[in-house]
Formats: sequence, structure tokens, C-alpha cells
Amino acid sequence: MKNIVIIGSGFSSLSAACHLAKEGFQVSIFEKNNTVGGRARQLIKGGFTFDMGPSWYWMPDIFEKFFNEFGKKPSDYYELEKLDPAYKIFFADDTITIGDCMDKICEEFERIETGSAVHLKNFISKAQTNYDIAINKIVLKPGLSPLELVTKETVLRVDQFFKTISQEVRKRFKNPKLISTLEFPVLFLGAKPSKTPSFYSFMNFADFGLGTWHPKGGMYQVISAMKSLAEELGVTVHTNAPVEKILVKNGKAVGIISNGSTHNSDKVISGADYHHSETLLDKEFRQYSSEYWNKKTYAPSSLLFYVGFNKKLDNINHHNLFFDTDFEKHAEEIYDNPKWPTMPLFYANFPSATDKSMAPTGCETGFFLIPIAPNLEDTPSLRSQYFDIIIDRFEKRTRQDVKNNIIFKESFCVNDFIEEYNSYKGNAYGMANTLTQTAFLRPNLKSKKVKNLFFTGQLTVPGPGVPPALISGKLVADLIKNKH
Ligand SMILES: Cc1cc2nc3c(=O)[nH]c(=O)nc-3n(C[C@H](O)[C@H](O)[C@H](O)COP(=O)(O)OP(=O)(O)OC[C@H]3O[C@@H](n4cnc5c(N)ncnc54)[C@H](O)[C@@H]3O)c2cc1C
Repeated sequence: MKNIVIIGSGFSSLSAACHLAKEGFQVSIFEKNNTVGGRARQLIKGGFTFDMGPSWYWMPDIFEKFFNEFGKKPSDYYELEKLDPAYKIFFADDTITIGDCMDKICEEFERIETGSAVHLKNFISKAQTNYDIAINKIVLKPGLSPLELVTKETVLRVDQFFKTISQEVRKRFKNPKLISTLEFPVLFLGAKPSKTPSFYSFMNFADFGLGTWHPKGGMYQVISAMKSLAEELGVTVHTNAPVEKILVKNGKAVGIISNGSTHNSDKVISGADYHHSETLLDKEFRQYSSEYWNKKTYAPSSLLFYVGFNKKLDNINHHNLFFDTDFEKHAEEIYDNPKWPTMPLFYANFPSATDKSMAPTGCETGFFLIPIAPNLEDTPSLRSQYFDIIIDRFEKRTRQDVKNNIIFKESFCVNDFIEEYNSYKGNAYGMANTLTQTAFLRPNLKSKKVKNLFFTGQLTVPGPGVPPALISGKLVADLIKNKH
């Protein structure tokens, strides 16, 4: 039986492990941290449960397809709830509530801009077609050749790769609040809406068409499910097992060294950050130079706070976006002129608003996220200064006092992303999906220099996010299965 070592235990590694174990490979995972899950780890403190990274469960069809490949369903492992409202956006003078179906969303759009519901329906219908093409014809390609992108459907829509999502949205909607609402979903792809091809409007279908879901107990339930599935399929999982070296002999990957011990294998896959993974190789075996990595556009890093409140909070939803400052300016301070944001937008997640299991009775679990440029200076005083800024705004917008109800607060930022995940420049979720960083233009799933060495995860294809990570694991497993 062929033996495969996988570095890391994020969504992409767990997905690759399950697919390969099903094909009869003997798979071992080596994870540096003391629990599996990577960016999607969990923090439990004083009865409060926090997802440390992803909290938006979008594209339920991708999760369904993943478990179906093994004769299972998500409901065999966790309970899913469709959130209504899906989320709420706070602006300086109003709020927009996104319901769980198009009728409710159209009504809300119409309230803000007369006549916008018709435009919205057309926009989402086009977005749905793009979603079908993206999911069925594009993302399942391994990014080995530009020809993969040439299909009857994409050729007919080639203009959508050269126009941006910003242009497309602004053509149809005038109200700045609606524009921000429709530009928000592509932020998951890691780049500015004005740099993201309009074809990616399929994210708007994911948002309004497919809805926002919550696995009871939090996103970590999905990681636990995948770990259980992997173990059912015979995968061995080692935690506290940092990989120090990828071993190469006669141009082929032959194993790894972890905690000083050698583990031989027929193939090696790294689901750790790509740049870091290449540093585990001797220089002559690395495919990409430091200039290559330095020039790329990364998805933002984040300043995160995990906060336990000793009371239930008012006027909040499960997911809340605070777009009450200038969206454009904050985006410029992430991508064009990287610096700590002057007036940050932020996201606040209160899973205990809909799921009692996430906090002690009468309490609220709060997760706050400020997107920031990667590689910024990260100090305790900056973290504390920004917490004060957002908590003041949070109190004002939700019209309540909460500062004296904080039992504890933990923070996580650039230095932690580097320390905990070996993240390049402390990026939170990989390399952005811009036109020049899409498909075959992204770092390769398969090493061009070392045989039997493969990569998976958010820095390779298809890109950032949990559903793409599930797909990335499948793509690398398919390459190995088909003996590439
Ligand atoms: C704050 C935040 C919020 C997010 N929100 C969402 C969201 O709401 N919805 C969504 O879909 N996506 C979201 N994402 C993105 C999503 O979480 C990621 O794209 C996805 O989890 C990445 O999975 P991965 O397998 O590529 O990498 P990772 O999860 O980073 O896994 C890589 C693993 O490799 C390990 N590793 C690194 N170096 C070594 C080594 N030398 N030896 C052994 N192990 C090593 C790391 O510890 C880690 O466990 C968010 C991400 C963050 C950070």
C-alpha cells in the first residue's frame, strides 16, 4: 500500500487525507499545533466557545458534495441551521438586514432604492449562472494549463473576466449602501472589489441565493466531522508534530522530518502555507523566489478579539458588519497604501445569539474582526487602541453599554498568524483571487522541481475560503490518483 504524508491539518489537508484514504493510500497527517483545524481552530474559555477563524458557512452544496463522496451527509456529523436574518449591516445612519430569501432581500433593497429589486433579481440570476459554471466547469480543474479555463461557457463570458465586480454593481445600483452590500461577498476572495473580475459575482449568488448557515456548536464541528471521517477511513493524525524538513532523494520527495524523527513516504503533500512549505526544502528544490512571493497580492491579515460578555446583548444578530465608515478608504489602507486603518470597518459575530451551546446561560460570545494589511507592525498597544475604537463604535451603533460587561478578551493578530500557522507576512486567508492570480496563474498543486511532492490549500488553487479548501484537497488527491 502506498504511503502519503500530509503536512498540516486545515480543511484542505483533511479533505486530501479523506479522498486519498478512500483510494486505499495509507495517510498520515503531521500538524504542528496541539489540535487539528488550522485557521479554523476553536477556543473554549470559561464556558464560551469561539471559532477562531471562519464563521460564515456559505455554499452548503460544496460541503454536501464532500460528504456524499464518502457515502455520508453533513447531518451524519452536525446539525445545520439556515440563519434568518443571514446578517445585518450597520451604516452611520441606517441598517440593512439581509433575510434568508430573495423576496425579503428585494423588499429591503426597494426600501433603500426604489426600483432596485428588479435590477437585483437580474444581477443574481446572472450570478447564479456564473455559480453553476464556476462550480461545475472551473474550480474542479487543477490549474495545470490556461486551456482549462477555455470552455464554451467561459468563452461566451470572456468580457466578465476583464470587467470588475465594482463596475458591474455600480452600473445597476446608485445607493452607496447597496453598493457596499453587493461588494462585500467578494471580500472573501481576498482582493478589492475594483480588482476582482465581475465573473466572481457568483459569490453574490452564494450569499443571497444559497444563504448563510450555522453548524450547531460552530464551524469547528465541520473540522471535527472531517477528522472523524478521516479516522474512519484509516488516516493517522499526529498533533504537536511540526515538520522541520521535506526529504528529497534523486529528485523525489521521500518523506519528512518531524520532532527530529524521519518518516518515510511515497509522496508528500503540504497543506501548510505554500511559502513556508518551500522553506522546508533545500534551496535548489524551491520553485518560487522570495521576489515572487513578495510581489503577490495577499488576502488581508486580521486583528481579532474573542470576548466573553456577562450579559445578553441588544440589537445584534449572529453576523453583523459595521460599514459605518468609508469602505473605499479602508480598502486602500489594506491594499494600496498598507497601514493601520484610519477608521476601520469591522465584523462582529455573536454565535450565541442563535445557538445557546456557544455561551453560558445569560452570556454572549463575541468575535470581532478588523481586516488589515498583512505584515503590519503588531504590538499590544496597537491591539488595545483598536479594541477601544471598535467597542466605542459598537456601543454607539447598537445603542447599549457593554464595556463593563466584558469578562475576558483574547486577541490574535499578524504575529500570531506567523507564529501559529507559519503564515507568510501574517496573511489570514492566503493569496487573493485577482485576474493575474487565478487558476493556472496561482502557485502549483504539483511541484515542478521535485517528483511526488504536492501542495494544497488557500495559496494554491482554487483559492481562499473553506469551500475552496475542501475542493483544493480533492484536486490534489485527484492528481495523485491519476498518477500525475
Ligand atoms: C479570521 C479568519 C476568518 C475567516 N472567515 C472565513 C469564513 O467566514 N468563511 C470561509 O469560508 N472562510 C473563512 N476564512 C478562510 C478559511 O478559514 C481558510 O481559507 C481555510 O481554513 C484555509 O485552510 P487551509 O487548509 O488552506 O490552511 P490552514 O487552515 O492554515 O491549515 C494549514 C495547517 O498547516 C499547519 N502547519 C503550518 N506549518 C506547519 C509545519 N511546519 N508542520 C506541520 N504543520 C504545519 C498549520 O498549523 C495549519 O494547521 C477565514 C480565515 C480567517 C483566518
